[in-house]
Amino acid sequence: MTKGTINVAVENIFPLIKKFLYSDHEIFLRELISNATDATLKLKHLASVGEIKGDFDQSQIEIIIDEKKKQLKIIDQGIGMTEEEVKKYINEIAFSGAEEFLDKYKEKGDDPGIIGHFGLGFYSAFMVADKVEIISKSYKEGSEAIHWSCDGSPNYSIKKSKKTDRGTEIILNISDDSTEFLEKSRIDNLLTKYNKFMPIPIKFGTKEESKTIGEGKDAKEEKITVDNIINNPNPAWTKKPADLEADDYKKFYHELYPMQFEEPLFNIHLNVDYPFNLTGILYFPKLSNNLDIQKDRIQLYQNQVFVTDNVEGIVPDFLQMLRGVIDSPDIPLNVSRSYLQADGAVKKIAGYITKKVADKFASLHKNNREDFEAKWNDIKVIIEYGMLSEPKFYDKAKKFALYPTVTDKYFTFDELKDKIKDQQTDKDGNTIVLYASDKDKQHSYIEAAKTKGYEVLLLDSPIVSHLIQKLETENEKTKFARVDADHIDNLINKEETKISKLSDAEKEKLKTIVEGIVPKETYTVQLESLDSTSNPFIITQPEFMRRMKEMSATGGGGMMGMGNMPEMYNLVVNTNNDLMGKILKAKGNKDKYVNQALDLAKLSQNLLQGEALTNFIKRSFELMK
Ligand code: ADP
Repeated sequence: MTKGTINVAVENIFPLIKKFLYSDHEIFLRELISNATDATLKLKHLASVGEIKGDFDQSQIEIIIDEKKKQLKIIDQGIGMTEEEVKKYINEIAFSGAEEFLDKYKEKGDDPGIIGHFGLGFYSAFMVADKVEIISKSYKEGSEAIHWSCDGSPNYSIKKSKKTDRGTEIILNISDDSTEFLEKSRIDNLLTKYNKFMPIPIKFGTKEESKTIGEGKDAKEEKITVDNIINNPNPAWTKKPADLEADDYKKFYHELYPMQFEEPLFNIHLNVDYPFNLTGILYFPKLSNNLDIQKDRIQLYQNQVFVTDNVEGIVPDFLQMLRGVIDSPDIPLNVSRSYLQADGAVKKIAGYITKKVADKFASLHKNNREDFEAKWNDIKVIIEYGMLSEPKFYDKAKKFALYPTVTDKYFTFDELKDKIKDQQTDKDGNTIVLYASDKDKQHSYIEAAKTKGYEVLLLDSPIVSHLIQKLETENEKTKFARVDADHIDNLINKEETKISKLSDAEKEKLKTIVEGIVPKETYTVQLESLDSTSNPFIITQPEFMRRMKEMSATGGGGMMGMGNMPEMYNLVVNTNNDLMGKILKAKGNKDKYVNQALDLAKLSQNLLQGEALTNFIKRSFELMK
């Protein structure tokens, strides 16, 4: 047996590592399985280039828990290590790597943005073990098996081993504060989290089966553990798109998210090798009535090893609602998020993903418009959010983004402008896009617009006021107005001369009467000479104020606090409606007429509730007498 001292500057890095990485101890298993995978892949590579002979397709990695000895073992059939290699790779490289990592980590302090903690490698074993042993036999002909042992201090020992087959066995003597890693369910969860798609089959005893042992009257039932392969070494994203059917993508979706029962709407297969490496599959889930958006997120892998499901900074914000997998060896992982976001390669990745998603939509729009229209309501929030947050996406999306009407027609913005420009251009040359946010609540206003032959869009997503603002900025002489923002003749003002049945003096008198009855703090009275068939009173909410309020409620910059402003309305009084004569002439019953007309106007805005509604019903019955 040889004993030696590892040449490290820090006397004992083990306690330091333990302290710094306290919350992330579990990653040791991912690191050790990654090493085992690398060792196996290296062997396969040597065979493929003819350096060694043999068939290594059956190579596996095995995880064993020995509860009695308090050991966890990771066994591979990879290239193994000779004594010299252990001294070089483990004593020197692994330990100095750990030191280097520690230095970096110390500077960053407790930055919660550090992801993955890649780089600690083999040494992470000491986070959970008092003593780590390596039994290894190199693939090299004539090499002798060795047994290395170390307690995390710079002292180690090496002796000969009886191991006869090629490969490496890592034995972790689990420390008393880490016994959770001797529990089958804990290891099973870790394997599922980090190793589900690693490229070498991983064997772990998870299932128990009954087996009859012995014969005749000596026969005994015994529970034995059956090993099974816990991973899928060839997940869909590593394959060529040409080799996959629509069904394969769906199957993989459910493999990735076993608790998801709904089918995704469509998927995008990512595949780049220049100027960075990236593969993956993104899925668009149905967003409507989906409550676990936050639970099943995009997963980031590095060479099929799970890193994180927090892809903030890597995937553009507006695509965080998607699902799927991204695998890239080019994403720096042991850095803070702010550093990550500033990284050139990462920026390119985000740009590439944005472009791929835009191209997918563009092709769906072009090649299968009907299907695109059918899915629009489930994807519009993502697209609208993207149009607002990514200028490059906006440039592409303006050609495929759809604007549905209340009668279920779908226009692109250009198609819409073309369709409405003759009918809906006002006297100042502005083309007015009319829209509603709720077909039922704004029914009477929509009908009024339809009677005029106008198109009314149905825009009901939460961030639509921001999008409208943007569209108005981008498209000169185009204005948006919600149907209840004013009387329809004022929304699209065509300079038709309006004749009033009332004289100016009568108008003045009428205004004073109405203002004296309706609550001043809520309504601004606005006299208009409309068609005599138009309603006597119409409640409207000016476009600008309402939109600003909505934008502030959904996070608009510079409009903080506007969301708390009380609701203000305009009360449009139609001076040409016959009711006005009645109100002017009535003796003592004026407030009855005004309140009744106001309540009816409120009803058509869905604003009549509580005591006001009770009073309205009472008054209506009285008026019938
Ligand atoms: P890294 O894997 O990042 O190089 P590690 O500290 O995990 O760093 O490992 C150091 C080196 O030890 C590896 O590069 C490899 O040469 C060797 N090694 C570790 N585990 C194994 C293994 N299971 N089989 C063969 N060699 C291994």
